[in-house]
Amino acid sequence: MEERGMEIEAVKKLLQDKKRKDVAYEKILTSMCTYPHEIAAYAHEMFLEANLGDSGLFQGAKEMEEEAVQMIGKLLGNENAFGYISTGGTESNIQAIHAIRNRKRRDGLKAMNIIVPETAHFSFDKIGDLLSIEVRKAALDDELRVDVNSVEELIDDKTICVVGIAGTTEFGQIDPIEELASIAKGRDIFLHVDAAFGGFVIPFLEQKYAFDFSVEGVSSISIDPHKMGMSTIPAGCILFRDETYLSELAVLTPYLTTREQCSLIGTRSGASVAATYAVLKYFGREGLKKIVSECMELTRTLVQGAKAIGVSPVIEPVMNVVTLSFPAAEVDRVASALEERGWRVSITRKPKALRLVIMPHVKEETVKAFLDDLEDVR
Ligand SMILES: *Cc1c(COP(=O)(O)O)cnc(C)c1O
Repeated sequence: MEERGMEIEAVKKLLQDKKRKDVAYEKILTSMCTYPHEIAAYAHEMFLEANLGDSGLFQGAKEMEEEAVQMIGKLLGNENAFGYISTGGTESNIQAIHAIRNRKRRDGLKAMNIIVPETAHFSFDKIGDLLSIEVRKAALDDELRVDVNSVEELIDDKTICVVGIAGTTEFGQIDPIEELASIAKGRDIFLHVDAAFGGFVIPFLEQKYAFDFSVEGVSSISIDPHKMGMSTIPAGCILFRDETYLSELAVLTPYLTTREQCSLIGTRSGASVAATYAVLKYFGREGLKKIVSECMELTRTLVQGAKAIGVSPVIEPVMNVVTLSFPAAEVDRVASALEERGWRVSITRKPKALRLVIMPHVKEETVKAFLDDLEDVR
């Protein structure tokens, strides 16, 4: 930092220069984030200074959090679920495992483990590290869903939690949550559903999947408003069926207006909570369904177009995530040729494939232009 500050206009100019270096979402096919809706941006700006870490001072923001949690709970089959608006899927996943870890530690259990699918998001590797628990990875079936037999084989008397993913980050696949629930319930194991991406997609698909609190045995769910919920970053949500798990997370907060805190972080944004509340009120189920339908329509267009030029998907897309197979040696070449044409794409780990996420910023012209380029470079 310099001794003397700059004129405000000069700082704005600096910001514009930096902004130009960011990639606009229009050609981004790798991200699970998108432009927040304008009502989200409006609410975000309005509540910019609200700190939910000290929520006694920000009653309006606190009410919006409670209402948003209730609206999301209702979407996920339980309007009486308990939780809070987090910073995203990572914090939500951490807190779910943190809660059950604390419960079992109080019960005297040591050297605990959790079982996640091989497709689990890397946040579970952070969790293993932070909470000192072993993270066991279960194998997948041919359709890249977790293989429940593999999960069963990995379970032992130190297993505190099984994780199912409703919308895998790489393939957009949905694990068989009902089957996981029956395994978990029979053994009194906590079942966490990671629906960070899928939570705002699956309820609106034509095909119905049982993945939420309507499945008996689902203990907690993470869902991200800052992905398909059209809210601003940072906005995740962690929900528990049973309120007592929140108290496993509570720490006393002397000198604040509240008595205790369950969130992982202290000072936290009321702005993205307001944004989340605003989009849910604005869209309603009907509006969110329309967004998902449009993304799915374009997903089908993309897959049909790819098939027409001889490129097949790894799995038939379940949601708005498309993975395209190429001979192993070709994937990197195709991806970098596409990047040269300005597209931002990614590559999955296993099987190795080209990955595209069809978010609401992707339009029909985008898909057509992408398919033309794909045909050229393949
Ligand atoms: C994106 C994602 C996460 C991580 O969420 P962040 O908001 O990036 O912390 C976790 N799980 C799944 C399935 C995801 O898609």
